[in-house]
Amino acid sequence: MTVAVTYYSFIMMTRREFLRQATVAGVVVVATSFQLTHASKTATGAASTPRRAAVVQTVLGPLDVSELGFTLTHEHIGGWTPDFSRKWPESFGGKAGFVARAVDKLKAVRAEGVSTVVDLSPYDVERDVRFLEGVSRKSGMHIVACTGQHLFPPESMIARSTEQLTEFFIKEIEQGIDGTGIKAGVIKVATRSDGVTAFEEKALRAAARASKATGVPIETHTHARRRGGEKQVAIFEAEGVSPTRVSLGHSDDTDDIDYLAGLLKRGYTLGMDHINRGLKSGSQLPWQKRAECIKQLVDAGFVDKIFLSNDSEFSSSLLPEEARDEREKTNPDGMLFNTRKLIPYLKQIGVSDREIHAITIDNPRRFFSRS
Ligand SMILES: [Zn+2]
Repeated sequence: MTVAVTYYSFIMMTRREFLRQATVAGVVVVATSFQLTHASKTATGAASTPRRAAVVQTVLGPLDVSELGFTLTHEHIGGWTPDFSRKWPESFGGKAGFVARAVDKLKAVRAEGVSTVVDLSPYDVERDVRFLEGVSRKSGMHIVACTGQHLFPPESMIARSTEQLTEFFIKEIEQGIDGTGIKAGVIKVATRSDGVTAFEEKALRAAARASKATGVPIETHTHARRRGGEKQVAIFEAEGVSPTRVSLGHSDDTDDIDYLAGLLKRGYTLGMDHINRGLKSGSQLPWQKRAECIKQLVDAGFVDKIFLSNDSEFSSSLLPEEARDEREKTNPDGMLFNTRKLIPYLKQIGVSDREIHAITIDNPRRFFSRS
C-alpha cells in the first residue's frame, strides 16, 4: 500500500503527523529515512560524523525522539493476553473493564504532563502489544514496548543459545512482536539477586548483542542492595556494549553512594524508579531518603545519567487484584507519584527546574536516539 503525500502537504505537516498518518495507513516507515547526520568534535578536536536515528519505535509506529517529552522510563501498563483471559476471564472486571481502567489512568497521567511511558514487560510477563496499541490510541499516551527477558523464562527459552536469544530480540526490534508488526523500542533484561544464573547470563549477552546490532538501548532490573548492577555491567562490558546505551533499574533501592557513583562514573544511567516503594511504613529506605540520594548524585555532576519512573503495575498478570489494591492504598498517586510528590520534594531540597527538565525530558530523548 502506498500513500500519496504531496511535497506541499508534507511540508505543511509536522513530522509527528506524517509518521502517525503513515502508520495508520499501514506504511512501514523505515527508521533510517529519518536518520540525521550531524558532525561532532571528538575530544582530540577531529571531526567525526556519528549517525543517529532520531526516531524511537512506539506501539503506534516510529516517533521522532523530540516528541517523547516527559518520559517515565520503567512502568508496566500490562496486558490482557488470550492465555490470561482463558484462566481469569472475570478478573479486574473482565477485559473491557481492564482496558477502560488503563485508558482512564493513562489519560490522567497525560493530563499532568507525562507524554511517554516505557512499558518494560517482555513476553514472560504477559506482554500484549495489541492491548498497548489500543490504550495508546485511546489515551494519547506514547507507549514504548520492549523485547528481552524478565525473571520468568519458560523451559522453551532456557533451552535456547545466546545466538538464538539474540536473534529473537532482534526479530522483535526489526520485524515486530508476536506477528503484529509492532516493534520493540527497548530491550529489558533482569537478574534476580547479586549473582547471575546461566540463563540470565545468556539473556544479558543476547541483549548486548541485539543492542549493538540495532542501536536500541537496554534497561535492566537489578537487585541494587546486593550491588547487582555490577554483575550485569561486567557482562555488558565483556560484550563491548557502550555504557551510554544501558540504564540500570531500581537503583534507588540502595543508598550506597559508592556503588551508585561507581556505576555512573563508568558511564551507566541509573533508573531511580522505586522511590514510591519507600512509602511503605517500616520501609528500610523511606522515599525522602531515596530523593535525597538523587540530589546527592545530581550535586556530584551526574544529572545527565538519571531516569525517574514508578515501576507501577496495573498489569493483569504481575499482581492479583488484592495485591494491586494494597499497592494502590500505599501509593494512591500511582504513576503520578513522581510528578505529584517526588519532583516537588526534589525542588524543595534544591534540585533546579533545569535539572528536573534534564532528568525527565533530555535524558530519555538522548537515550532513545538510536546510535
Ligand atoms: Zn519493573
